[in-house]
Amino acid sequence: MPILSPQQLTWINGFAALGDSFYTRIQGSALPQPKWLATSQATAHHLGWSEDWTEWPGMLEAMSAGKPLEGATPLASVYSGHQFGTWAGQLGDGRAMYLGEIKTPRGSEELQLKGSGPTPYSRRGDGRAVLRSSVREFLCSEAMVGLGIPTTRALALVSSPLTVWRETQESTAIVTRVAPSFIRFGHFEHFASIGDVANLQILADYTIGLQALEIQAFLGLDSLQDLSPKERQLGFLKWMAHRYSELMSQWQGVGFCHGVMNTDNMSALALTIDYGPFQFMDAFDPNHICNHTDTQGRYAFKRQPQVAYWNLFCLGQAFMPLINESEPIVEALEHFKSQFPLETEKVYLSKLGLKHGSKGPDQGKNESKSAAQSQSNDAGIAMAEEILQIMGAQRVDHTILWRTLSESVNAFAQGNPNPWVPVKDLFIEHSRLDPWLHAYEKALKGENLAQSAQTMLKTNPKFILRNHLGEIAIRQAAQGDPSEIERLINLLSSPFDEHPGFESYADHPPEWAQSIEISCSS
Ligand code: AMP
Ligand code: MG
Repeated sequence: MPILSPQQLTWINGFAALGDSFYTRIQGSALPQPKWLATSQATAHHLGWSEDWTEWPGMLEAMSAGKPLEGATPLASVYSGHQFGTWAGQLGDGRAMYLGEIKTPRGSEELQLKGSGPTPYSRRGDGRAVLRSSVREFLCSEAMVGLGIPTTRALALVSSPLTVWRETQESTAIVTRVAPSFIRFGHFEHFASIGDVANLQILADYTIGLQALEIQAFLGLDSLQDLSPKERQLGFLKWMAHRYSELMSQWQGVGFCHGVMNTDNMSALALTIDYGPFQFMDAFDPNHICNHTDTQGRYAFKRQPQVAYWNLFCLGQAFMPLINESEPIVEALEHFKSQFPLETEKVYLSKLGLKHGSKGPDQGKNESKSAAQSQSNDAGIAMAEEILQIMGAQRVDHTILWRTLSESVNAFAQGNPNPWVPVKDLFIEHSRLDPWLHAYEKALKGENLAQSAQTMLKTNPKFILRNHLGEIAIRQAAQGDPSEIERLINLLSSPFDEHPGFESYADHPPEWAQSIEISCSS
């Protein structure tokens, strides 16, 4: 039975119950003349809400930072963090507002507004988010859901004639975000840095509690209750390392650059969080930097897994006052180092439609290898590395290459005598590609071809949120026309489907896409 009115919402507000060291209660400042610009029915469905939820009394007001819903406890949380590799001290929700967690069919979910006005943590900022970045966050959250990549979600996008000054005058908006929690590594770093061990303990218990079932399954336990607090915390850190090894390989697999992987933008639930200067790569370039202000390339595409690992150590450091021994913390976090290659292997073997362990030259020979390693498909991995290098050298479009390859394998499965022509057409120079295709065709012969094609078509998306697609939607939204946002949400929610009639959305980007500059100041 769906929830039919805001009165039926059950508020839990577990974060608010942690105590006032964690936040400052705020009111938010209402966006004037708010309008629903876009909503995600999929997110509403996820929450168990009826379809007409935008018409519930008080909803538009609540989601434009006006009068909060009854039962909400609006607040801005305090966190600290490392930004671009250096300690930045106290930060906090400078433009976000926690409303509370509500009960849903899938567990508790926090509702949060972004762009809801200044808070005690705004520093010199105005507490607002511009329409441009809000549309991008709204679209990308739901695009990630479509790709099956862990992420915070977006429920609503509310626009307003209110303008703020960035590099130019821009209109503002508020995104309602949804996730079980928006706790970041920075929340832990905050309490560690001020030496507040009691609250650090409370935060650890709360965050571990939110993920207890998954952590215990990962550790192979029936319950976390039998563990000592230290053991639980170490289990949590290992679990985080595991989840980030999965998340990073998923990002890399779809060519996603986050752009600003500061520790205050790292979710303690290993969700993709804080969509700012992100980009799905067009032409493949492992050194790609999507954030215009990242002059050193700290967050370049290929560095993301390393940065995640570095950030995990910041989280581990924050646990030192609780665990008091560095060795077991390092050991827990080093799980990332051994797990990331295995996760990456899984991702790329699926992208290539090759089985795990089908062709490894060492397979079965080396008894001392772990079970996971002995199943590895070394030839498949080498093949993935080689095609990435060839793509990188010729700047071939990442998404188009993988999707075209999937279609070619499908054609090969159906007996097409020249299945690779569309792939070859994407490259100017064929001296490395031809032998690669030859070896790949040979590797495919050991597979169930139809199954390989199906795996590939479900792994390699046809549609991604390219910068220029977002940009067109933003320009139209700024004129009050949300139809392009709706179209993109529709495509990106099922990015592996064909969507006949929308082929142009899967095309190469136009020339002007290269001139789009995305920075943090949004
Ligand atoms: P970000 O790089 O977007 O994750 O932001 C880093 C910090 O700056 C966070 O504490 C944000 O809340 C804060 N911040 C970013 N933009 C604004 C803004 N317009 N007004 C107030 N605080 C902001
Ligand atoms: Mg942030």
